[in-house]
Amino acid sequence: MTNKIVCPRCKSDKGFYTRERITGTAQKYYNSSGDLEEEQGAMYDGLSHHGGTKAYCKQCYKPMGKTKDLASGNHEEETRWGVTE
Ligand SMILES: [Zn+2]
Repeated sequence: MTNKIVCPRCKSDKGFYTRERITGTAQKYYNSSGDLEEEQGAMYDGLSHHGGTKAYCKQCYKPMGKTKDLASGNHEEETRWGVTE
């Protein structure tokens, strides 16, 4: 993965985004004092994602291609910390 993904239209290498429609129910957790709890881990379990198949340029907002052809499947943190040393 040494090749940068570059927008064919504006030559931006700033990356891309997808548009997804998210449906479902989000749960928010409060403690007995009425405080919002730190742990909200299960909040998004009930959500489902639709779409996201097209990738758009973050600079010019034009379609750049199919997400499955562009996305590496990695998270940025993993690639950043995984290659040290
Ligand atoms: Zn662009």
